[in-house]
Amino acid sequence: MIYRWHWFIEWQTPSEFHAHEIERVYQEQKSKYQEVKLVELTRFGKSLIIDGKIQSTVSDEFIYHESLVHPLMLSLRDPERALIIGGGEGATLREVLRYNSFKEVVMVDIDDVVIEFAKKYMAQWHKGAFEDKRTKLVIEDGIEYLRKNKDEFDVIILDLTDPMKDSPSYKLYTSTFYELVKDSLSHNGGISTQATSPSFSIDSFSVISNTIRHVFGKSEVGVSFVPAFDGLWGFAFYSPNSISPMSQERVDRLLEEKGINGLQYYDGTTHYSMFSIPKYIRKYLENENRISTDDNPIYVPA
Ligand code: SAM
Repeated sequence: MIYRWHWFIEWQTPSEFHAHEIERVYQEQKSKYQEVKLVELTRFGKSLIIDGKIQSTVSDEFIYHESLVHPLMLSLRDPERALIIGGGEGATLREVLRYNSFKEVVMVDIDDVVIEFAKKYMAQWHKGAFEDKRTKLVIEDGIEYLRKNKDEFDVIILDLTDPMKDSPSYKLYTSTFYELVKDSLSHNGGISTQATSPSFSIDSFSVISNTIRHVFGKSEVGVSFVPAFDGLWGFAFYSPNSISPMSQERVDRLLEEKGINGLQYYDGTTHYSMFSIPKYIRKYLENENRISTDDNPIYVPA
């Protein structure tokens, strides 16, 4: 069905929005946890929207997913077991599975409705990753999964919805949760998380980074401009080895050595731009002393 002049409005903060023309609504469904929508946007094509926020669009999802996965991966030596918490579209899974060193990749998402949407409509995102024999898909709350978990992972990637009040994900940005992540991380392991937008929510970006530093002893951040998100997007990492100082030549050499071909966003030049954080953001991060806790969690403005 064609809905010309039908608009989807994404509120980035309570005082600003980005209006997108919608060509078609494929399906919308209220799950136990959130409102899930798959639409065709005139500008960005097929797009997944959860609780009024664009999660990713077919035309630029590669920017977000490559940023979340590859800088961390290049800093680690031949990891064998990965855990993705969230990641409904299957695109983070797709990027992780590019590395032949993995024997098992567990993906834990709370919402089977998002997974159904992904399997039904989003083959361009997951590209068959759910069927890879190394993939183990679990439908469960990430907190519950980690509380029970006894395995060790070399890589843990948090690809979650933004920490909004009443969302199923806001507790997965707190120090209590990062302690659980740490307990399941192998000695040489590393983590990455989406860290909200320094353009729209510099507070949550810097608090997430500081909370990781508080729990893991250090953190690094990168930023990428994602057109469908209308601003800079932030990523926070912990790795026992440094990520940001890797030279452009080293990034390109490692990608080649690990057989990672066909990326659309990330390479040595992009690495340099991701980790060249603008001065005012660096200052903000340097002065940050808050941490997100269960009693006082950080939220994005809504
Ligand atoms: N790119 C994204 C963004 O911009 O926010 C994140 C994408 S991904 C679709 C987010 C996933 O996190 C969703 O599939 C959602 O079901 C999942 N999620 C939210 N809370 C969760 C929880 N407590 N445990 C596991 N998965 C969760």
